[in-house]
Amino acid sequence: MATPVTNEATSTPLALLSVEDSSDDVELIRRQLHQHGFTPVVRQVQTSAEMERALRERRWDVICMDYAMPTFDALGGLEIRTELAPDTPVIIVSGHIGETAAVSLLKAGADDYIPKHNLARLAPALRRAIRDTDERRARREAEDERARLVVELARALEIRDEFLVLASHELRTPLTALRLNLEGASRANIDNAEVRTKLARADTQIDRMARLVSDMLAVSKLRPTEPLRPAETDAGMLLADLVKAFCEEQRTEDIVAQLPPERLMGLWDRGRVEDALRRLLANAVKYGPGRPVEVRLERQGSTARFSVADRGIGIAPEDQARIFECFGRAGPVRNYGGLGLGLWIARAIVEAHAGTLTVSSELGKGSVFTLSLPIVTDDP
Ligand code: ADP
Repeated sequence: MATPVTNEATSTPLALLSVEDSSDDVELIRRQLHQHGFTPVVRQVQTSAEMERALRERRWDVICMDYAMPTFDALGGLEIRTELAPDTPVIIVSGHIGETAAVSLLKAGADDYIPKHNLARLAPALRRAIRDTDERRARREAEDERARLVVELARALEIRDEFLVLASHELRTPLTALRLNLEGASRANIDNAEVRTKLARADTQIDRMARLVSDMLAVSKLRPTEPLRPAETDAGMLLADLVKAFCEEQRTEDIVAQLPPERLMGLWDRGRVEDALRRLLANAVKYGPGRPVEVRLERQGSTARFSVADRGIGIAPEDQARIFECFGRAGPVRNYGGLGLGLWIARAIVEAHAGTLTVSSELGKGSVFTLSLPIVTDDP
């Protein structure tokens, strides 16, 4: 059989640590590898102290180890490898050692066992061991990197939350002062109707800012969530009052409300449910300005179903789930302001009441948001 000849230009350099007491065997190994495409740089060591020194000095591509040497054996060598160079593959190259010993060596971390009378298997075994080790290392590095990113992300979220809490408090202080001044000014006897109107508008803007600040705070996990304060609530009255107040504030007549003939009562936190519905109304007006908005309340089994239908820009199917997420926004973001928090907060309110908030929409035609809440029924 022809012996493979190594072409120096294409052969693979190999730093080989040989833990072996026979120099003849080291030479046999070196020659064998050379014939199979490697250019080995070999260091021979014979004691545990020499092996430790060699591993501390540099990185080795592979360690070939005899099973038993006069002062130490392969199991001891494997321990040293695990401690000092866990990423370096080990191949046991030895005379016959028996199956039990071979298995215990593999269990102790050896990558392969090659009998000395069958050295032709060494080069392929070595390539495989190096490849496996590289893959293991790459996997471990990827896992380490992922763990590092998770820690970094958690810290970034913590910083964001601390910032949000701080920023909201800082913004609230001047807002409160502004509101007090404005209230003082509004109480003064002002004849000028134009000034009175401007003061009222400023008050509305302050309300808006206060709501934005409170929405920002809602994102922070550091803020404890306010418990619900449920009370008997007349759904129809809630909706009628809200629509009236909203239309006055927005100076719009585009919103039409349809209420059911029957009275629907729920055990709800009225302020929070109003807040959720107000967000739907505000979006309907914002994303369909000047177009009619239909608000409807009806009974659906044991739920009160509020729907807010607009004829605005609509929402593409692929965006319809995302808009309920924290900061989730769709469509031409630049054309419309907003933090992308309204629907996320609205859905949290609704779900805290064991209800649902969904959307059905067609791009360019409009959207219908449906908010369902359980009602108190006489049904058994
Ligand atoms: P934002 O403050 O950005 O309006 P929301 O959470 O209220 O935040 O809404 C999230 C996104 O959902 C919006 O950015 C918008 O893209 C879309 N959206 C909400 N309501 C409507 C609507 N009635 N018509 C069209 N798009 C809407």
